[in-house]
Amino acid sequence: MKKLFANRVLNNDTSDLDEIFKNSANPENISFAGGFPDIQLFPDDDLKQAYRDAIDADGQAIFQYASTAGPLALRQKLATRMQTHADVTASADEIMLTQGGQQAIDLVAKLLLNRGDSMVVEGPTYMGALAAFDTYEPTYYEVPVNKNGMDIKVLQQTLQAHPEIKLIYTVPDFHNPTGTTLSAKRRQAMVALANQYDVIILEDSPYRDLRYSGKSIPAIKHYDTEGRVIFISSFSKILSPALRTGWLVADPQLMTELIGLKSAIDVQSPNITLAAINSYLDHHDIDAHIATINQAYRIKRDAMLAALDKYFPKNITYTRPNGGFFIWVTLPQGTDAKTLLTDVVLPQAHVAYVPSACQFASRQVKNAFRLNFTSLDPETITRGIQQLGELLQPSPVQ
Ligand code: PMP
Repeated sequence: MKKLFANRVLNNDTSDLDEIFKNSANPENISFAGGFPDIQLFPDDDLKQAYRDAIDADGQAIFQYASTAGPLALRQKLATRMQTHADVTASADEIMLTQGGQQAIDLVAKLLLNRGDSMVVEGPTYMGALAAFDTYEPTYYEVPVNKNGMDIKVLQQTLQAHPEIKLIYTVPDFHNPTGTTLSAKRRQAMVALANQYDVIILEDSPYRDLRYSGKSIPAIKHYDTEGRVIFISSFSKILSPALRTGWLVADPQLMTELIGLKSAIDVQSPNITLAAINSYLDHHDIDAHIATINQAYRIKRDAMLAALDKYFPKNITYTRPNGGFFIWVTLPQGTDAKTLLTDVVLPQAHVAYVPSACQFASRQVKNAFRLNFTSLDPETITRGIQQLGELLQPSPVQ
């Protein structure tokens, strides 16, 4: 049967990840592997009310087909939010609702990538984006990420050496998986490079509002002078991932094509959910809700960092994010985080993480892993990091 499958599927090996998530679902293990929000923090009563209000207010029309881009009222609210929360001026016509940020990534890949086309990704990057891009069979160029986000010098060298590059994919705010944030200077420089080398930037920013310390930085799209930056975000991390609702901001020329592509895939996002989100934004204070979750996530981040400081040996380094969901841990050179996980960490410490290799397009970096700090309570976080740290003492490498 497999010989009938398209290359895009055959190229997509998810078996490693399937195994990791299967292991981490075992209730005996403390899992830092998933990228889940805290289930206790969903505004479930307000969302239930919002669905009821939306159905009552819209009557039968809510059950009918509607526009591909999504309801104008919601797009207008997002246009306002883009101004106030990202320093981006966009009209409602430059905004489209999507089924999560994930669909927005897929749409942009579909718009731009022929098989073999060249693109830049961060190393490491969001593994779900790699899965989406992989199906279009691009040629990847990996640019490392450091404390201030993507290394712009390496980006410049890469673009200069490979003028055929069409697309840069970046997660500038509280990067998945490292938690780092691209500095304002680098954002400006990235746009200048995109202009110089005729490249599109896909700015994927679902964690932008989840800041626990430090000051907010304008979106990359704020610096966009030629309509080359496509911005995407999502309600998944700030309201609920089950809504499967994200949004995409793009120049009109790009937007026309993106709407056409979405229409061919699913005609539109579920109308009832979009109406409920619109009603939620009308009757509830989403920023008050975000402030509440940020307070809880700040405590969890601090618990994980304090435990790492206390229980991890000094030859292991880790990032100190100002927001988002993740901390990135780097083990001594020569350590294979995946083998360590399956052979030692899961059976002995009963802790799960996501090893680094599957988060690199090149699959080459093996001595690091991602930890999520949002889904568990602070006590469990501390216990899990203690169990892991004690196992890693004095050093896992001989
Ligand atoms: N981009 C990044 C960087 C993410 O971490 C995620 C979710 N983990 C997504 C996009 C997709 O999220 P969703 O489709 O739920 O909006």
